Amino acid sequence: MKLPWYVISKGSILHHFPLIGKSTAQSLGPIILVPDPIYKDLQTDSPHPKHIALLIHEETHRKRQKEMGILKFAYHYIFDSKFRFQEELLAVKEAMKYLKKNKISFDFDRNAKFLSSYVYLWPVSKEYAEKELKKVWDEV
Ligand SMILES: [Zn+2]
Repeated sequence: MKLPWYVISKGSILHHFPLIGKSTAQSLGPIILVPDPIYKDLQTDSPHPKHIALLIHEETHRKRQKEMGILKFAYHYIFDSKFRFQEELLAVKEAMKYLKKNKISFDFDRNAKFLSSYVYLWPVSKEYAEKELKKVWDEV
């Protein structure tokens, strides 16, 4: 698929930055950074549905940052763990809609682990994250 201008590959240089990392995507203001292998897959005629779901997830963050203003969003995202978790749930929810529509399962265990991990500065327990994710899945 043709990607919008603001979706950018992390290339090989950004992979060396610790927090930006190799395996995760980020939405930074108007820009969405994705790992290079995912970027390449998204440009093919039939990208992996999980990669499309990831793009939807990041698009949601991008939209929210635009609505709130990047500085305000970043401030809350960094200092308020509750806000951070809620924003993640919002983004996950949009991705879940796509997954459900395409009858693709959601890995609750893996996602709950990730959402409760150091990547997000341990906002919630894994059990809580899993419970909330299941609630959202039932809603979409
Ligand atoms: Zn996210």
